[in-house]
Amino acid sequence: MAYLNENYEKLQAGYLFPEIGRRVNAYAAQNPDKKIIRMGIGDVTQPLVPAVIKAFHEGVEDMAKIETFKGYGPEQGYAFLREAIAENEFHARGVQISADDIFISDGSKCDTGNILEIFGMNNIIAVQDPVYPVYVDTSVMGGRTGTMQASGYYEQIVYMLCTAENNFTPELPKQKVDLIFLCFPNNPTGTTSTRENLEKWVAYARANNSIILYDAAYEAYIQDADVPHSIFEIPGAETCAIEFRSFSKKAGFTGVRCAYVIIPETLKAANSKGEMVSVKALWSRRHSTKFNGASYPVQRAAAAIYTPEGKEQIAGVIAYYMENARIMKASLEQQGFTVFGGVNAPYVWVKTKNNMKSWEFFDQLLNEIQVVGTPGSGFGPCGEGYFRFSAFAARENVIEAMERLRSMNNE
Ligand SMILES: *Cc1c(COP(=O)(O)O)cnc(C)c1O
Repeated sequence: MAYLNENYEKLQAGYLFPEIGRRVNAYAAQNPDKKIIRMGIGDVTQPLVPAVIKAFHEGVEDMAKIETFKGYGPEQGYAFLREAIAENEFHARGVQISADDIFISDGSKCDTGNILEIFGMNNIIAVQDPVYPVYVDTSVMGGRTGTMQASGYYEQIVYMLCTAENNFTPELPKQKVDLIFLCFPNNPTGTTSTRENLEKWVAYARANNSIILYDAAYEAYIQDADVPHSIFEIPGAETCAIEFRSFSKKAGFTGVRCAYVIIPETLKAANSKGEMVSVKALWSRRHSTKFNGASYPVQRAAAAIYTPEGKEQIAGVIAYYMENARIMKASLEQQGFTVFGGVNAPYVWVKTKNNMKSWEFFDQLLNEIQVVGTPGSGFGPCGEGYFRFSAFAARENVIEAMERLRSMNNE
């Protein structure tokens, strides 16, 4: 008899985005004449920039000729891409990350879920609430949690509350935690962390031999000069942090798939004998056993964002989305909403009026003005009463959605 991994039965049924999809599809089926504006899922809408397309084509052409054909590439990723990343993302900011400490993959979703495999089962995992659901659900699947409680929290996970009072940046946990997922700029709240705050986290992690799992998927959206782009800008982080980066939001690669993990050589974790062992070596073993490398044309396409044209072109796309965010934030504030985020991140995080529940606001927007956002409660209990709008829509849709909202909401 074959038995299932029963940890999967602990997962909560309605994963957020399928539930949104279900409600939107049901509405659309009944109202085929209504134009729905989607500002829900965090997916980009603008096409790949010309420099990326050109390199992508060249990569495909290489595959067509016997002299330049590529079979399996290096599991860790081609050196041309890892070196371009080290140079442009890190050395250019004065951060000494070696190309050897970078592992190319096909997405940060997989990376943030897979990373737990190299850590022991007795680690206490801490996450922000509200949270990107992947960190929690993959912890559940891996058997690292108990069951979901009535509170909306899984047993054995430490939730770090992010509220308006702490500007959605959590306090240090009172109890000792071992693996700490931090996401800045944050999805879903669109808030960022200051350097001082990250220094506190690095000090905590070093003092407790914990490891920070830093998701910087939205780093390219940072506008303010004093907001760190990488945890490795904080001295000491190279001994207590892993960072996740992705080309998905930075360069519109959500449908292309390319990302990377940075694990410094100097990062160590304990085995049961109390010996400190290289984390990178374990990840390297895992990665090369279970992954055969991202596709060559994709890595060529990714490297093209570090050419002068590529840099300029992706900056233009990011500026377009950030102008959307600015328009949304300004309009929502003018309509009397309390708004967070939208300054260094492509998400605007809105407090509903009169403490309306997130899903109630979702249904109201869908039914009355055909605008789709994401209910904050889907990201965790602290998200209740909030709503996330994504800035990844087309400009005219952003403007129209804000006008429709204004027409609805006069109290
Ligand atoms: C979009 C996103 C990612 C990137 O995921 P990919 O699998 O690389 O597309 C990672 N983390 C967060 C929080 C995200 O929102």
